Amino acid sequence: MTVHRIGIVGYGNLGRGVEIATSLQEDMQLVGVFTRRDPSTVSTVHAQTPVRSIDALEEMQDEIDVLVLCGGSRTDLPEQTPQLAERFTVVDSFDTHARIPEHFAKVDAAARAAGTTALISTGWDPGLFSINRVYGEAILATGTTYTFWGRGLSQGHSDAVRRVDGVAAAVQYTVPSQEAIARVRAGEQPTLSTREKHTRECFVVLEDGADAETVREEIVTMPHYFEPYDTTVTFLSAEELARDHQGMPHGGFVIRSGESSPGTTQTIEYRLQEDSNPEFTASVLVAYTRAAARLAAAGEHGAKTPFDVAPGLLSPKSPEQLRAELL
Ligand code: NDP
Repeated sequence: MTVHRIGIVGYGNLGRGVEIATSLQEDMQLVGVFTRRDPSTVSTVHAQTPVRSIDALEEMQDEIDVLVLCGGSRTDLPEQTPQLAERFTVVDSFDTHARIPEHFAKVDAAARAAGTTALISTGWDPGLFSINRVYGEAILATGTTYTFWGRGLSQGHSDAVRRVDGVAAAVQYTVPSQEAIARVRAGEQPTLSTREKHTRECFVVLEDGADAETVREEIVTMPHYFEPYDTTVTFLSAEELARDHQGMPHGGFVIRSGESSPGTTQTIEYRLQEDSNPEFTASVLVAYTRAAARLAAAGEHGAKTPFDVAPGLLSPKSPEQLRAELL
């Protein structure tokens, strides 16, 4: 068994998840966590996990096979992925869909020049959902692809609610429309507006003296974030928020509905239900870490996405085992 030596760069929700997921894989050895903060202020899930400054990576090229980059997509990964790809095999979960081509180009240039492998935009969306969209379109040439998200906690939308004047704390859930899903599953291939596909639920703790109706109005009319949806706002106490809304659940469906001949409906559906979005995403990243190590060892350099990775490369099992057990 080849043991892959892993470093985690950035220790937030995802970094914590990667630490846990790595410990469940027999062929992975965690070298440590690398952070931009003072390492003494970062406490890890497992007390024995070393935490070092990100600057320590300068000296550690020979001690690490793959770096798993767990920074945020908005500002961390656009900088860190191309920079670290100059010296390491890297995996990230860059999830700003519209900017993936730009991110790919920057990372690809750095990785090709350095002779490293950089696997970007792994996770579930982008990631596993993207693969299922490709399968659906490739297999059912005539049809429509639908992605529904939720019920899940949206970090971006929760942040947007927290920025509203009078809001002390808040979370936001994206909820797929059961009616829309039923119509898609029935093979109707409906044209669905944004409002018809998802609703949004906000749970808000008000600041002392804030007017509930003013806050509600500002949330539901917020352009782009809430105006295009049917949004409900529920006010609750800080204690209730802490008691009932601590988890980070998510998930969703990718459905391809098509016809293989007139009147012959075919449906492909892929579903995820995650109790913890970061722990699930981290588990995907760690499987792709194995693939990245194997691609690097095979001299497959440059940037890659999940579309470029053969499924067998994700598995700890050998090709022989996979053919015997899972084909
Ligand atoms: P966090 O905000 O928890 O962490 C991002 C970075 O912020 C960390 O790497 C860490 O860097 C820094 N940080 C974390 N906690 C603190 C703190 N207390 N004080 C100061 N800095 C801190 O983001 P997540 O881990 O939740 O998510 C990371 C990314 O994962 C998202 O931006 C998204 O792009 C991606 N993602 C992708 C998915 C997919 O399916 N493809 C799904 C879900 C997420 P450092 O240690 O260096 O300070």
